[in-house]
Amino acid sequence: MHRSRSTKIVATLGPATSTEERIRAIFAAGVDVFRLNFSHGTVEDHRARVDIIRALEAEFGRPIGILADLQGPKIRVGTFVGDRAHLTPGQPFRLDMTKEPGTAKRAPLPHPEIFQAIQVGSTLLIDDGRIRLRVKKHTEDTIDTEVEIGGDVSNRKGVNVPDVLLPLSPLTDKDRRDLDSALELGVDWVALSFVQRADDIAELRKLVGDRAAIMAKMEKPGAIEHLDDILAITDGLMVARGDLGVELPPEDVPPIQKMMLRAARELGKPVVVATQMLDSMVHSPTPTRAEASDVATAVYDGADAVMLSAESASGDYPVEAVQMMNRILARVERDPIYRQINDASRHEPEATSADAISAAARQCAHTLSAAAIVTYTTSGSTTLRAARERPDVPILCLTPKMATARRLALVWGVHAAFAEDAHNFADMVQRARVMALQEKLARPDDRLVITAGVPFGTPGATNILRIARA
Ligand code: PGA
Ligand code: MN
Repeated sequence: MHRSRSTKIVATLGPATSTEERIRAIFAAGVDVFRLNFSHGTVEDHRARVDIIRALEAEFGRPIGILADLQGPKIRVGTFVGDRAHLTPGQPFRLDMTKEPGTAKRAPLPHPEIFQAIQVGSTLLIDDGRIRLRVKKHTEDTIDTEVEIGGDVSNRKGVNVPDVLLPLSPLTDKDRRDLDSALELGVDWVALSFVQRADDIAELRKLVGDRAAIMAKMEKPGAIEHLDDILAITDGLMVARGDLGVELPPEDVPPIQKMMLRAARELGKPVVVATQMLDSMVHSPTPTRAEASDVATAVYDGADAVMLSAESASGDYPVEAVQMMNRILARVERDPIYRQINDASRHEPEATSADAISAAARQCAHTLSAAAIVTYTTSGSTTLRAARERPDVPILCLTPKMATARRLALVWGVHAAFAEDAHNFADMVQRARVMALQEKLARPDDRLVITAGVPFGTPGATNILRIARA
């Protein structure tokens, strides 16, 4: 089974997509990577979803990525009586340290650090800034505010305190527990929220080892300042526009998105553009024109993947949202301007044999109108170099490591498949032919551009390029 587009779709699972039938439906509609949001749900919820995804993977023979998103030091309100409350502008609203479910007058805020750091006059923003509170008075365990912008708040919505520096550790105790569960569930990617510096990623790496790839969620001004250091050690980035656009003015987000996409592409590391991409589809079967344009812009900017959050997790139209995203991606990729932008934004290959061969493979595939580039890889690093070249044909990644195939589900243009290492040249061509035909990436007699490393069977640098017929 393959999809006829290069840009990938990440969809967040939640109450709207927890049954086998719903997960199957959004997978069929185009999801490449499923995101488990550890800010919500129990380990048992996540385990049930992982079981469903792995069963679909086996049924369709298509490696599927699973991304565990750790909450990080995200501040959230507690729960409410009846799961929600309405806040009215001009009215007082108290945050406190009790465990009592909230009402229209008060709510629990289970984060002692804030009560210490907050100041009179500070702003508290709830639910991606939809609700704004101004601090009037505070004690060790209460914060009295006035509602400036009101609206509905529901359980565990995020809280941002942009004008106060909060002394928070990058990995909370909950994150450490969730990380253990996620790794035990066999997730492929682990994303860390509210990263501020490269050390935060280094700390996560120590705990994860090589059991999963690591994604840095870029949603704090500090992370943007340390982008180069973070990029050097992370495996991927998420442009987490929800919190980013709360912590920084919204007009700063588009240029930061473009800047991050460029920087990551230069290093050949995958980037996901996230949040509010088709936000109106939470309640409507069609998106706004502006949203369609936003998804398209992320693709033109060179994103590896675009992400759905509430649209797929808790919206009324999760399947329609994935279908719409799929259509927008396919449409942009048919645009000759998209191809021109990709060609114009290619970087010089680095001085390594893997890079030189990947650049040559792209050129050969283009010159010969080949059907696909086939990369043999163990760690996936050669396939990432091939994807960095943004070739105009699909990249078939053959790997003996299922973990590699699943991680690469997130990466632009990559169609990964499980295959044992080749034993010799004839075997290498034969396996590439069989897989390209089986995965319907080529028809008999189409040209294939194959890259691999000799001696066969020893993981290491890619050093050969072979042109063959399928
Ligand atoms: P979140 O992260 O959905 O976990 O908050 C994404 C974002 O902030 O954009
Ligand atoms: Mn966030």
